[in-house]
Amino acid sequence: MRVLTIDLEEWFHLLDYDATRTEAEWGKFEVRIYENTERLLRILEDTGSRATFFVIGWIAKTYPDLVRRIAEQYPIGTHTENHQLIWQQTPEQFRADVRNSIRRLEDITGQRVDTFRAPGFSIRPTEAWAFEVLEEEGIVVDSSIFPAHASHGGWPGFPSDRPVLVQGDGFSIKEFPMSLAHFAGRPFVFAGGGYFRLFPYPLLRRWTREHDDYSICYIHPRDLDPGQPMVPGLSLPRKFKSYYGLSGAEKKLRRYLAEFPSLDLRSAEQAIDWSQATVIQP
Ligand SMILES: [Zn+2]
Repeated sequence: MRVLTIDLEEWFHLLDYDATRTEAEWGKFEVRIYENTERLLRILEDTGSRATFFVIGWIAKTYPDLVRRIAEQYPIGTHTENHQLIWQQTPEQFRADVRNSIRRLEDITGQRVDTFRAPGFSIRPTEAWAFEVLEEEGIVVDSSIFPAHASHGGWPGFPSDRPVLVQGDGFSIKEFPMSLAHFAGRPFVFAGGGYFRLFPYPLLRRWTREHDDYSICYIHPRDLDPGQPMVPGLSLPRKFKSYYGLSGAEKKLRRYLAEFPSLDLRSAEQAIDWSQATVIQP
């Protein structure tokens, strides 16, 4: 099973930079989300792949027509209302944000929204409380676990990179973690964002083939946009991560999806016998 997810955000939705941190700054930047979403929709249509779109509430509020158009064809999940890191929030702030985003996305799309991805994969072991909040707010499927180190989160040592049930006192969430490859004994995520742009295609293919039963890919609209401006004030490593490989990325994604046709998370969730799933208690 191959799963494709798209985190629907703008080119400037980079985390932890003052210049791009909150809604107050976002209105100042060039709008590229229409063009970049059209590109992704064309790729999906041409390759016959499906994807779940994790939408930031702010995007839906600002461009409701765009999100409605996506929702006519593809399932919508929430990527929170304001794209803030989970570990910078209290459980109460997180709950309010998730609740607002679900309400907004459901109002705009007419779909039930029960699928979630945290900004920057920012559910770490110390934020395991987030699962309980998510379940209480109606989330059934989560795809926030990055089982390696990540710039803004990650859960190194998470026991699986295959779909599992994350269970605790009174909650049970169907989790679709990111897929891992190993190099020199160290795990890393290969199929998404800057990693997808960085690794040469033959390696992506090899690692994906090694995941016969399940692999997942995450893409942002900005990952395929060579024309985007440079966010001011980025560190050198961040510049590299955000801008490397943009010009070849569309071609690479088309090739990848032609070779590995992908499902959205809803179809993937329905295809799994959850009574046989591994249970993880964080
Ligand atoms: Zn994001």
